[in-house]
Amino acid sequence: MKSEAQRLYADSAVNMQRLAVLRATFTEAGRVALQMIPTTDRTRLAELRTRLYNFTVPEADRLLTALREELGPGPGTLPVDQMITYWQGFRALLNSPTVLATASGTTDTATNDQMVEQVSKAWNALEATVVQMQTDLATRAGEGYARIEREYEQSQRNITLIIAAALIAGIGGVVWLIRDVVPRIQTYSRFAADVADGQLGVRLEPTGSDELSELGHALNRMVERRAAEHDYDTTQAEFSRALQLTKNESEAHQLLKRHLERAIPGATAVVLIRNNSADRLQSATLLPDDGIMAERLAGALPHTCLAVRFAQPNDEIAGHDGLLRCDLCGDGASSSRCEPLLVGGEVIGAVVVQRSQLAEQNKRRITESVVHAAPVLANLRNLALAEHRALTDALTGLPNQRASHDTLLRMAAQSCRALDPLAVVLIDLDHFKQINDLYGHDKGDEVLAAVGAMFAASLRASDFAGRFGGEEFLVLLPGTSSREAKGVAEHLRTAMSAITIPHFERKITASFGVAVLPDHAPDAATLVRQADRALYLAKAAGRDRVHIAADAHAPTPAVRHPRITGAAPDATASTASTADRHPS
Ligand code: GH3
Ligand code: MG
Ligand code: MG
Repeated sequence: MKSEAQRLYADSAVNMQRLAVLRATFTEAGRVALQMIPTTDRTRLAELRTRLYNFTVPEADRLLTALREELGPGPGTLPVDQMITYWQGFRALLNSPTVLATASGTTDTATNDQMVEQVSKAWNALEATVVQMQTDLATRAGEGYARIEREYEQSQRNITLIIAAALIAGIGGVVWLIRDVVPRIQTYSRFAADVADGQLGVRLEPTGSDELSELGHALNRMVERRAAEHDYDTTQAEFSRALQLTKNESEAHQLLKRHLERAIPGATAVVLIRNNSADRLQSATLLPDDGIMAERLAGALPHTCLAVRFAQPNDEIAGHDGLLRCDLCGDGASSSRCEPLLVGGEVIGAVVVQRSQLAEQNKRRITESVVHAAPVLANLRNLALAEHRALTDALTGLPNQRASHDTLLRMAAQSCRALDPLAVVLIDLDHFKQINDLYGHDKGDEVLAAVGAMFAASLRASDFAGRFGGEEFLVLLPGTSSREAKGVAEHLRTAMSAITIPHFERKITASFGVAVLPDHAPDAATLVRQADRALYLAKAAGRDRVHIAADAHAPTPAVRHPRITGAAPDATASTASTADRHPS
């Protein structure tokens, strides 16, 4: 803007100056011509003529040409063109024969006056165009200057307005920051501090839809996810701790089921275990009420379950036509995830979790829980197996002496509490030494195993039969009176004599001593001593018979039964010598 004004000023000044010089030159030309016309003095005339034709007129020509070039052609140059026309007319007049004649000083006064008038007229017209042009230039420069000044003022106003608007916007922004943003940021800051302190229950309440609100929603989602992870970790840790406290497989199975059903609302979990001896897959926990799985599990081979077969998780999605379908979980109304219980590369079972939909988080929980539980379950199974072995006689498959002792104490205590009789039958095979001697030790073992199998097959589920040492057996009959016990013993005696063993022609017989709590003894130890005494009497009476103990107050034999002393007997204890109590 400033440079345009400067340019306008410079152009106007130059042109005005040129016009002023041109006007002066025209004036000079006019003045010299007007002086020249009436002059008669030849010297003076020569001087004037020289000034006019040699200096003033060429100078005016030069100035006009320069001005013409400077302003260029076009409508704006019309006064210049007019000036040139007038100048050319003026020059033509100066060069006219009459004016030239006056320059020679030979013309009369009337002619001179006439020429003076013509020259004055032409000069006046020329002078008028120059003045007109000066006026135009001045007007144009004034208008340009005014326009520039107006534009300058307008731009000043615009700048002021912009600055004012920017100022208002800035102040508005600060006010908005103070009234709206700052309190929200403070809330967010407190929220972040609470979350950092572990308070995962706090939430923001973002309003509106600006970036801060979006940040608030995002922070809420972040904390919700963190809270869910925290819940997840807490419940998994609780499960792990509880798992360490389980005493047996059954408890661990129940715990695993309960944990999964509690952690995944709406889910049903079933623990399946592999029964290798029966080559079956069976449920270790309650089955769903719809009975579908119960039906499918009946007689199911372990490989029926795809998770067991492939030793990897199997997902069944309700309504999805999968390529491979599990015969246990497929085609159900709900989706399911089946996770194999893997220990040392061996699949010991599987855990099926059914639910309408299972999120990835739930699948992760199932996998983690099962992976965590599998070694514990295997451990408990091995412990149970070891315990079973420690309490079982390998030859007969019956509970061994230690287990027999424990069971006797437990049943006796139960009998005393329930005021129910407990019958004890002590059995000793007759002349077993002879069997060994005549048929060999292996055949003797075979006889013992056959007798054990006979006991297991002949007694009620609530009764108990154990190997009490050597060729002696202990039978416990809870809730059985003396008379009933005698009947059971006779039944066993008959069953024993009916045992047949290949390449063994001899009849197997045994002597039975029966005593009943509380009829014959007040406690377990006395009870067995009484039964032993009765057994002694059965042997003495000729063997292969049943003898009932004498009354509780009858004297007991001098030799106490070595196995019933209150302390747990050694499971590996060898057969007690019966020579001192069994008449041969
Ligand atoms: P009695 O009619 O008086 O009871 O005579 P018995 O020969 O049965 O009694 P004895 O106590 O003299 O002999 C018991 C035999 O049982 C001695 C022992 O070698 C044998 N015996 C103990 N345990 C086993 C076993 O596990 N296998 C075999 N084959 N024999 C055993
Ligand atoms: Mg014997
Ligand atoms: Mg014996």
